Amino acid sequence: MSKLTLSEIQNFKGKYPKQLWYLFFSEMWERFSFYGMRGMLIIFMVSKLNMNSEVANLQYGATQAFVYAFTFVGGMFADKILGYRKSLFWGGILMIIGSVILAVDPTRFFFTGIGFTIIGTGFFKPNISTIVGKLYAEGDTRTDAGFSLFYAGVNLGALIGGYLCIAVANGNLLENIVPIALRWNVAFGFASVVMVISLLTFVNTQKSLGEIGESPLQDLPKNKKNLYEWLTFAGSIAFIPVVILMVSNAAYTDLFMKIIGPFSLVYLFYEMKNFNAKENKKLLAALVFILFSILFWAFFEQSGGSLSLFAANNLNNELLGVKLDPNGVNNSANSLFVIAFAALVGIVWIWMAKLKIEPNTVVKFGLGFLFLAGGFYVFYQTQFFANENGITSLNLFAFGWFIITFGELCLSPIGMSIMTKLSPQKLQAVMMGMWFLASAYGQYLAGILGANIASASENSNNLDKLIIYTNGYKQLALYALIAGVVLIVISPFVKKLMQEVK
Ligand code: GLN
Repeated sequence: MSKLTLSEIQNFKGKYPKQLWYLFFSEMWERFSFYGMRGMLIIFMVSKLNMNSEVANLQYGATQAFVYAFTFVGGMFADKILGYRKSLFWGGILMIIGSVILAVDPTRFFFTGIGFTIIGTGFFKPNISTIVGKLYAEGDTRTDAGFSLFYAGVNLGALIGGYLCIAVANGNLLENIVPIALRWNVAFGFASVVMVISLLTFVNTQKSLGEIGESPLQDLPKNKKNLYEWLTFAGSIAFIPVVILMVSNAAYTDLFMKIIGPFSLVYLFYEMKNFNAKENKKLLAALVFILFSILFWAFFEQSGGSLSLFAANNLNNELLGVKLDPNGVNNSANSLFVIAFAALVGIVWIWMAKLKIEPNTVVKFGLGFLFLAGGFYVFYQTQFFANENGITSLNLFAFGWFIITFGELCLSPIGMSIMTKLSPQKLQAVMMGMWFLASAYGQYLAGILGANIASASENSNNLDKLIIYTNGYKQLALYALIAGVVLIVISPFVKKLMQEVK
């Protein structure tokens, strides 16, 4: 069978191209692995590595910051050397190695496993998202719906992995089957098995991508192309010890974060020389979205940090009358809501478009912040529903996540989609990498914010902890509100930079 051409792929009939489903499942399993591991990190660090909660928060923020920072590097190597497909494959292999290491001996090899996972995710995550954008021709109005579906896949994986792994590790699931001493190993083991499934799904279906994601070095002699590729593989392995050193030492994390952001900006401005004024204006607009998303993720990503500890200390275990692990709920409620409402939000946009009242992407981002503010305000409100031991309502907490989810749906899938629309072809993966790099800064700031909240409450009783944490969330609600208003006010200027892109 001859290879599918790009136009054959992009001229698909119906709402979604079939390739999107393959990417959906591959990403779903990858996110299962990623969020499964992530949901265990802070609890593992506190209970097994004996870190205090302040240090654990910073350490957690550092791992997440590194994961997303390497998406920029992974994007850069994909655009210039490997192409999206080989990058994704390589990333998957490294992620499998990382999760197997953690499954074997998480206490001894914690940072080694994390190091592999960080570099692996850097090669995997931005490039699978860029391939989604490639399935659509320029101006295809079905693009946003495609990213929304893909995002539902992200969250389906996050939901199952986020709940299952921590619940097994905490002994709330499979407790009669898994021996106590092996709980953490089995939980990390789940993450590695599903990562293998993710990669197999991709390998078995990648033929359907035709020329999408092939090597950018097709015109070079074969031996030269191979040399560059092998250097990239070898270089990424050689860099892993450096990452391990940096991620296990908060001072290096600070340094790295100070360097990678400015470096990415200098790189972007350097690349801008190759494009005309119209293209560069669009890149500037992309930068505005990227900068605001940093703030969004800094608040949102309290999820794996301070909200994890809040859930463990201050929440009861009853959701609508059903007994559930509050950490499991914190890890997965948001994903459940995304899966349930991603399509609905898509339909609302289409309906508004028909009435000619669909907000543009900038205003949607602004709305994202307003929902975020609302959700954190609900987290603040939980302090008024607590008993004398500082234990409060899991129901109300889950309701906060419900509101925040609408904010996420206004910002995250739309953000990925707008990156592919605003970037010139040769810069697609780098811009997607920068989009996720913003998450790295968000995670990094989230760790600092979370550590501040945690340190203020280190020696307090549970009730005081509740008050300190929830007052912190009230502050975040206020800042999110301000950011939302600012975005809506500046939307006409950003729209001008975007030109015909909506
Ligand atoms: N939850 C989304 C994902 O895992 C977005 C992550 C992010 O950009 N911070 O893909």
